[in-house]
Amino acid sequence: MDLSFSDEDLAFKAEVREFLETKLPEDVRSYYSRGMHVPKELQVRWQKILHEQGWMAPAWPVEYGGTGWTVTQRYIAAQEFGTMGAPTPMPFGVSMVGPVIYTFGSQEQKDYYLPRILNSEDWWCQGYSEPGSGSDLASLQTKAVRDGDDYIVNGQKIWTSYAQHANMIFCLVRTDSNAKAQEGISFLLIDMNTPGITIKPIYGIDKENTLNEVFFDDVRVPVKNRVGEENKGWTYAKFLLGNERSTIARVAQSKRRVNKLKEIAKTERVDGGLLADDKDFMRKLAQIEVDLMALEYTELRMLSQEAAGKRFTAEPSLLKIKGTEIQQRLTELLVESLGMYGAPYEAMGDYEGRNDTAPGPDYANGPMAEHLYLRAATIYGGTNEIQRNIISKMVLGL
Ligand SMILES: Cc1cc2nc3c(=O)[nH]c(=O)nc-3n(C[C@H](O)[C@H](O)[C@H](O)COP(=O)(O)OP(=O)(O)OC[C@H]3O[C@@H](n4cnc5c(N)ncnc54)[C@H](O)[C@@H]3O)c2cc1C
Repeated sequence: MDLSFSDEDLAFKAEVREFLETKLPEDVRSYYSRGMHVPKELQVRWQKILHEQGWMAPAWPVEYGGTGWTVTQRYIAAQEFGTMGAPTPMPFGVSMVGPVIYTFGSQEQKDYYLPRILNSEDWWCQGYSEPGSGSDLASLQTKAVRDGDDYIVNGQKIWTSYAQHANMIFCLVRTDSNAKAQEGISFLLIDMNTPGITIKPIYGIDKENTLNEVFFDDVRVPVKNRVGEENKGWTYAKFLLGNERSTIARVAQSKRRVNKLKEIAKTERVDGGLLADDKDFMRKLAQIEVDLMALEYTELRMLSQEAAGKRFTAEPSLLKIKGTEIQQRLTELLVESLGMYGAPYEAMGDYEGRNDTAPGPDYANGPMAEHLYLRAATIYGGTNEIQRNIISKMVLGL
């Protein structure tokens, strides 16, 4: 196993760094690196810059617009994006439905949807979870009944991230109520502007509206918008979830937070001294840094195996558990490091264009918003308890 980077890899790293230094808009970087949700207009502007560079979908096959980067180059790029505070494209199009479409979709679907994902014409959201179906997703109840060349869809999705911005939703629907749970599900691509779709906002603990409920009331969806075979949607759904979990460790973002904490510790004062001299605080930071290093080497080990052609079973679950726990510990410590300046919740001020000044230093604006939002990291993408179940089954054979 070789964990060192070649000269070509190092040259590639410099190329990515230079691109980000010259092309990443400052307003995009500012929102993202403070841990705030990047507004849609800024996110789309950044995605168009990435598309112009040909870097919108590095993992896609070259024939559909991918970059042809090696596994190592993809890793390096992800690290550079994280270090420089550059958001990756919204995952719902590029990382989720895109690969499902080019792997299982019809030629017509590939020709129509893939270019629209690359040039950010479509904003996708994910319609999997329902009020009674989260971890036990196969119990979903939203129904699609065939009527000529259409399905008629009725039911409800919930926790649909950014549905209010989306013009497309990929949905799991039940097309056979008599089959075993996993065997009666189909995968539909639905235009959010179809009559009968209603979106209701859900405000999270971070006071923001990233989550939604989506209701389907006699919504007509052309049969040609079904991906793959009828009642085989579970296969495509699982394929998509596998992609989702493998990108969730977020080592580079966590490293950036560690560096930020070290900077803050040199400035913030506590009990008459600097935070950097507070042994208890520095011990907590050092412990997280050690755990993060272990996670990084685990990820690199997996990378080396992936480059050698190995397919994974429970490994992404391990990365998800450790990565999200570290994210939560770091943002908690960030808020702690700010003392009373960590308490105000300032994010909405930015979105509303308020011009009153924040009470604390610049770096205090953002961590609370991020800390609150990331409570969800151990829930979304399959809860950490479910990941532990996967590990116990796949690795321990329980
Ligand atoms: C911020 C955020 C964004 C999201 N975005 C989307 C989205 O865009 N689209 C979408 O479709 N969904 C989305 N989700 C939903 C997410 O996928 C679900 O919340 C998740 O799968 C858990 O389902 P649930 O909320 O129904 O909890 P439940 O499945 O009801 O679980 C409740 C608790 O019980 C535990 N539990 C359940 N089953 C088991 C078991 N077998 N063994 C051990 N413990 C168990 C869980 O770990 C959890 O702690 C999002 C969620 C969040 C928080």
